[in-house]
Amino acid sequence: MSKLNVHQYPYLSDNYGVLLHSPDSGETTCIDCGDANAAKAALKKTGWSLTEIWVTHHHGDHTDGVVALKKETGATVKGPAPLSQNIAGLDTTIKDGESFSFAGNTVTAIHTPGHTKDMINYYLPDECIVFTGDTLFTLGCGRLFECDADTMHTSLTKLAALPADTMVYSSHEYTLANAKFALSVDPDNKALQMRAQQFESLRADGKPTVPSTIKEELATNPFLRSNDPDLRAFLGMENASDEEVFAEVRRRKDNF
Ligand code: ZN
Ligand code: FE
Repeated sequence: MSKLNVHQYPYLSDNYGVLLHSPDSGETTCIDCGDANAAKAALKKTGWSLTEIWVTHHHGDHTDGVVALKKETGATVKGPAPLSQNIAGLDTTIKDGESFSFAGNTVTAIHTPGHTKDMINYYLPDECIVFTGDTLFTLGCGRLFECDADTMHTSLTKLAALPADTMVYSSHEYTLANAKFALSVDPDNKALQMRAQQFESLRADGKPTVPSTIKEELATNPFLRSNDPDLRAFLGMENASDEEVFAEVRRRKDNF
């Protein structure tokens, strides 16, 4: 097991890509690639040589650069086994609960359908890192394009059960909009109010609000707080199931 270096870089209008690098072995992976030029610029900046690409889901902003980057670098490409025909350039598919090794570190796939049916999140327990794609965002969660609310709720529950200090690398900078919405359904949450303020100043300085941690999300992300008494009271859903509360919060965000 070796300590890994992380380099996060923005691309397109609001995406984040990540390079993960082992100084010991020299191995480097890129999580998603919606823009080969942005990934190449990040590789040039770090001086790292790409050996792998890990794809979270089939959307173009996560995959459009995969084939070009693979061709240029010779990297091998891992991606979701479910509906793998939807992603060009995959060498290896991975399904829920499967693990592989990266520079001596265990990487476990967590299938988190909801935003898409194929979504795979990559969890590195030794490094306390999870790459959540478009499932769990800082203060938000992905839109339900291909699955129902119950399916997404189950997926988010899997992520919420990871150790509290796990760092959450998500794929988009949506946080200020997410914070506005979160405050609309959880207005008296002090931790949320403080975080929203911190994020305002981070973004004013052009800094990312990603990564987050599971602990911070549990305290402030309304999509992980279906069982919170204050949130339930605000929605008038004291006696509803967690799934019903989640579906209502998601519905409100869609119309916010
Ligand atoms: Zn997506
Ligand atoms: Fe996306």
